[in-house]
Amino acid sequence: MNIGIVGGGIGGMMSALMLARKGHEVTIHEKEKTLGGRLAFVERDGYKVDKGPTIVLLPEMIYEFLEKAGIGKEEVEMIRCDPLYRMIYPDGSTFTKTSDISKQIDEIKAMFPGEEEGFINYLSDMRTRFAKGKKAFLEKSFINKKDFFTFENIKLLLELKAHQTVRSQASQYFKDKRLQDAFSLQTLYIGGNPSGSPALYSLVPFSEYEHGIWYIKGGYASLIPLLEKHLRKEGIEVKYESSVEELMLNQKDCKGIRSSDGEFYYDKVIFNGDFPMIHNLINTKKTPKYKPSSGCLLLYFGLDRIYNEVDIHQFFMSDNFRIHMNDVFKHGSVSKEPAIYTFHPSKIDDTLAPEGKSVLYALVPVPSGKDLNWKDKEKLAEGIIQVLEDRGFPDLKEAIQWMEIRTPVDAEVDGLFEGGSFGIAPTLTQSGAFRPQVKPLEYNNLYAVGASVHPGGGIPIVMQGADLLVQEIERV
Ligand SMILES: Cc1cc2nc3c(=O)[nH]c(=O)nc-3n(C[C@H](O)[C@H](O)[C@H](O)COP(=O)(O)OP(=O)(O)OC[C@H]3O[C@@H](n4cnc5c(N)ncnc54)[C@H](O)[C@@H]3O)c2cc1C
Repeated sequence: MNIGIVGGGIGGMMSALMLARKGHEVTIHEKEKTLGGRLAFVERDGYKVDKGPTIVLLPEMIYEFLEKAGIGKEEVEMIRCDPLYRMIYPDGSTFTKTSDISKQIDEIKAMFPGEEEGFINYLSDMRTRFAKGKKAFLEKSFINKKDFFTFENIKLLLELKAHQTVRSQASQYFKDKRLQDAFSLQTLYIGGNPSGSPALYSLVPFSEYEHGIWYIKGGYASLIPLLEKHLRKEGIEVKYESSVEELMLNQKDCKGIRSSDGEFYYDKVIFNGDFPMIHNLINTKKTPKYKPSSGCLLLYFGLDRIYNEVDIHQFFMSDNFRIHMNDVFKHGSVSKEPAIYTFHPSKIDDTLAPEGKSVLYALVPVPSGKDLNWKDKEKLAEGIIQVLEDRGFPDLKEAIQWMEIRTPVDAEVDGLFEGGSFGIAPTLTQSGAFRPQVKPLEYNNLYAVGASVHPGGGIPIVMQGADLLVQEIERV
């Protein structure tokens, strides 16, 4: 079959490779000069720093899907991050998360005496829920909603306590608010409010313990040149700077695409742009309403030194994390005292910067949407740098060789719905059967893959989506 893919993000590239290996002829149309979408580097003066994804979760899933795409384990070197990360509070105290369980219990005992039992119960409950939830919800498509609402699934949803939120579920195990934060903020990895994302997503904080956090040598985005090499090997054609402007539809079918470089006819078309944007390429009378995920204020730095004493991943927490979350998800404002995530991979990878120098990435969750204007971004950046200098990176200002800032406006320009970084929000009404599916609309041969499509965002999960898509194409 002759298959056209709109967009060369991780979902589009993985689908292309898996489909080509099943004997299909595949062409990718990518509007940019480069492939990878959100999985990219910011490169400058001999430095390169990941632009988007930094936290590698579920390594075995990644290896499994790469293998299905024809990429061997030996081609991707992963290094385990231990500790997972350090949480640093304004009073200077720290809580270190580690997947070494006995060390973690000691750490909890020292910082939050009496909470160890809650942690042990948490791990044991989540282990069962993870195995069941993955099989029932991650590894299945719900093109027919009735496949979701089976008796078994409803029973399982009750067992997984899906009616709770990730935050309220954490509060069943931990009394201290800081621990509740520590076991619920991971919804931010997919742009969700800890107090608004269904408890199904508690599988994210659990997976950090069970499967660890990893680092891909050379940076997460080093996967892109590797995948590109395999696209060439499989004979997949890539049309760069080919911006798809229309999906050519008749009553029931999608015949092909119209792009900036012409019309192309395919047996099947896969959309890998951010899903809500598909409605700009088709003439529909009614566009469904979507809720975007949160956005990010991102700072990328080239530094003249390496901070060997800091952890690769760190969270600089504020005094009241919930105020920050309410600012992002309820008030739509930039928090005055936000939590800040930092990524300093040069500590373990000397390929990212000139000798003795390093890269640093800082991320602040902010609202997506059109209502904020980012004219003050430099001023906000100054404030963030000051916090980092005071609380973890001594003399940071002096160490900065260059800095770049990215806001939700830049994300929207790149084609992300309302500037949300992670696809549509992981709310109850946009999860499982309620999220767009691999076969999302009524057209027979139109498919979709990517962060806004079930099972959702994050690199391994989008890879899972590509696998579900290929299964669906092969099934019909
Ligand atoms: C700041 C940030 C931090 C993140 N952190 C993590 C993390 O730590 N761990 C993790 O696992 N995930 C993380 N993610 C999420 C992860 O990056 C995404 O889930 C994943 O990359 C999405 O892949 P995708 O297949 O949806 O495609 P995208 O990356 O969205 O790519 C889509 C591609 O389609 C192209 N395109 C769109 N429309 C058209 C058109 N009309 N014509 C032609 N081409 C088109 C675009 O140019 C783009 O190249 C992060 C994301 C961001 C932004």
